Amino acid sequence: MTTRVAIIGAGMAGLAAGCYAQINGYDSQIFEMHNLPGGLCTAWKRRGYTFDGCIDWLVGTKPGTAMHSVWRRIGALGDQPIHHHEEFIRVTDPDGRTAIQYTDLDRLEEHLLELSPVDGPVIRELIGAARALQTLEMPVGKPRELFRVRDHLGQMWEMRAFLKVFSRFSRISVGEFAARFKDPLLGEMLTAVLDSRYQMTSLLATMGSLAARDAGWPRGGSLPFARGAEKRYLELGGSIHYHSRVTDVLLEDDRAVGIRLEGGEVVSADRVISCADGHSTLYGMLGGNHVPDEVAKFYSDKYPTITSVMVCMGVDHDFPSAPRSIQFPLDPPLEIAGKVYDRIGFTNYRHDPTLCAPGKSVIRSVFYADYDRWRGLAGDRKEYEAEKQRLAARVVEELGKRFPDAAGKVEVTDVATPITYTRYTGVWKGAYMSWISTPGSGHIQIPHRLSGLKNFYMGGLWNLGSAGLPGSAVSGRNAVQVMCVEDGNKFRE
Ligand SMILES: Cc1cc2nc3c(=O)[nH]c(=O)nc-3n(C[C@H](O)[C@H](O)[C@H](O)COP(=O)(O)OP(=O)(O)OC[C@H]3O[C@@H](n4cnc5c(N)ncnc54)[C@H](O)[C@@H]3O)c2cc1C
Repeated sequence: MTTRVAIIGAGMAGLAAGCYAQINGYDSQIFEMHNLPGGLCTAWKRRGYTFDGCIDWLVGTKPGTAMHSVWRRIGALGDQPIHHHEEFIRVTDPDGRTAIQYTDLDRLEEHLLELSPVDGPVIRELIGAARALQTLEMPVGKPRELFRVRDHLGQMWEMRAFLKVFSRFSRISVGEFAARFKDPLLGEMLTAVLDSRYQMTSLLATMGSLAARDAGWPRGGSLPFARGAEKRYLELGGSIHYHSRVTDVLLEDDRAVGIRLEGGEVVSADRVISCADGHSTLYGMLGGNHVPDEVAKFYSDKYPTITSVMVCMGVDHDFPSAPRSIQFPLDPPLEIAGKVYDRIGFTNYRHDPTLCAPGKSVIRSVFYADYDRWRGLAGDRKEYEAEKQRLAARVVEELGKRFPDAAGKVEVTDVATPITYTRYTGVWKGAYMSWISTPGSGHIQIPHRLSGLKNFYMGGLWNLGSAGLPGSAVSGRNAVQVMCVEDGNKFRE
């Protein structure tokens, strides 16, 4: 008899788990509370403009890499063209000087040396380390809990070329490294790409992937990417139930036997894989009774997470000479929901003509945000909406200041706050990248199964922390791999 698997959540982790469950001969169904696939990997339309809520860079866009094979296997990458940015971000200072984060490392080195020759040694150290990580790949093969001694040795062997960079740069944060530049503009450029608390290795790996052309933009953006995986899953024989919020994982003698949906319906299953948010799985659907201490400790303020507030604009203007992404100093600073911002960035999506009509543009501004302050505001709908409008108005005003030809041409704005992320996907604290890998925390990973609980598995952004879409997809795949091993089945890739 075929083994029935209930998968919770149709984000990238759930869709990947679904595809690999079908590939491996299980009879799976996905239960998703929303009315569409993708979870955080999403987009929405407003007055003819598509506002993308996710992808800045997608690791795995380079053919021949292991991650690329996963994206193709689950149908997320099909035939859509991939755009590779020549420059990732520009940062300007109050004197109008501009630092450009070129993705090509030779060009970047030359540019930075021209800007600040006195920073030569730090620039060379930065570029040398990023170069060394150009061939680093997202590990896909096997989840850690299935590692034997020889797998550890094999991994060390594969990583030998990167160990020097890792041991040197995992102990230092992006902010600490940025502070080494004598010219503060160069430091600003680094912290414009990643929050200053991240380990420097995270930034170097990103620079390496961009340089290797393994971190591009798939034409159409986030939602078509997720729709591709949904289509593949359905072709493989799976089924998805939308508008189906799971309230409980049902257990008998510490063995998962099914799920309960909001409204009370019970669905029996031989195996349950939760690819919904980690915190709501552990403390909601499982009632907080099966949280190992080594996992519980991560869901505390000691381990920082990250969230943001995002303003999307549809503009009746084509910004003929604007770069992909540019940051300006803000004077006076902007104070929103308890945080003060002295910089503003505008990202232009002109590299994708499918997002709006010719001659028009989609522009996005993102600010790191304080989840608790937004949650406090959300308690008062009027106050919350007023804060969103105040933010949108200032962003539109600043856009007009920096690009005078676009002044008065913003046709529509839309603001997504940390509360929006949580409302639509249940993600804890709006933390769409899970825990930040800081020098103190290291790279946090939580296991795909919980000790003492049979027939239950987990995947998603909290399992392979800080790893974005690739981490989520791989963790969904991993959950199925662990299940296969426990069932005595050879895992089919
Ligand atoms: C602004 C922004 C920018 C980002 N940029 C990038 C980027 O450039 N590159 C990158 O790789 N990543 C990026 N990410 C991160 C990436 O989107 C996430 O890491 C990834 O999408 C998480 O996938 P997931 O499947 O683990 O979780 P989710 O996408 O959260 O999926 C979980 C799913 O479970 C559903 N669910 C939750 N609870 C229940 C329940 N009780 N019952 C039924 N269903 C439930 C949710 O509705 C959701 O569909 C970004 C995210 C954001 C928000």
